[in-house]
Amino acid sequence: MEKVLIELNRVTKTYQMGEVTVEALKETSLKIYQGELLVILGPSGSGKSTMLNILGGMDRPTSGKVLFDGEEISDAPESRLTRYRRNELGFVFQFYNLITDLTARENVELAANLVEDPLPLEDVLKDVGLDSRQEHFPSQMSGGEQQRVSIARAAVKKPRLLLCDEPTGALDFQTGKLILSLLLKINQERGSTVVIVTHNTAIGAMARRIIRMSSGRIAEITENPHPLSPERIDW
Ligand code: ADP
Ligand code: MG
Repeated sequence: MEKVLIELNRVTKTYQMGEVTVEALKETSLKIYQGELLVILGPSGSGKSTMLNILGGMDRPTSGKVLFDGEEISDAPESRLTRYRRNELGFVFQFYNLITDLTARENVELAANLVEDPLPLEDVLKDVGLDSRQEHFPSQMSGGEQQRVSIARAAVKKPRLLLCDEPTGALDFQTGKLILSLLLKINQERGSTVVIVTHNTAIGAMARRIIRMSSGRIAEITENPHPLSPERIDW
């Protein structure tokens, strides 16, 4: 039996916009297994980021439960959620979210300092191919380089769960594939469970399991017995 790392149990998320209620997630249930690499697909507005934010303890469900490693986190105090985000999670965002007045190395170091047993800084910077650029500031780096820093920042914590929201959304095709290869490497070599959210259906080919979102619901779950390496994906 595969171990469930995190689970959504009939999660609904509504946003109140004046008179209008937006149901971003509708009674959604999903189990994510330890060690898997999962791709969540769906058009803009289908609820992907809402789901990722709830998985990441950055937002709470309106109803339903979230269980991480068997523990309910959806009703946990804010201090518990902070500890959860700090110790268990890595995040990679479309626009990198680096601290602009810290160098590449300092951005990664800051994350490393949050946890008890980080990976050696040098190893992580080398893994993402940035060891020669570690004294550069984000503004001195290309989008792809900044995304590599943000992956190093997530990886240095040895997160059990790595959540990526449109990680290639701002990058050209070749750079995007390189970023996906790094995410796959963290999944395979470090054992992190990786969730990639994207509107780009081609990226689904790299996952063994693909979730398709539509209007706040999971429309389909596909098993893919022969995932493609990111270098072989085209879009
Ligand atoms: P996706 O990431 O798939 O593009 P989102 O999860 O961002 O979709 O959004 C799902 C729906 O919820 C959309 O209709 C969006 O407008 C709405 N929504 C998301 N976040 C908020 C918010 N903070 N306030 C109001 N509505 C929101
Ligand atoms: Mg989104």
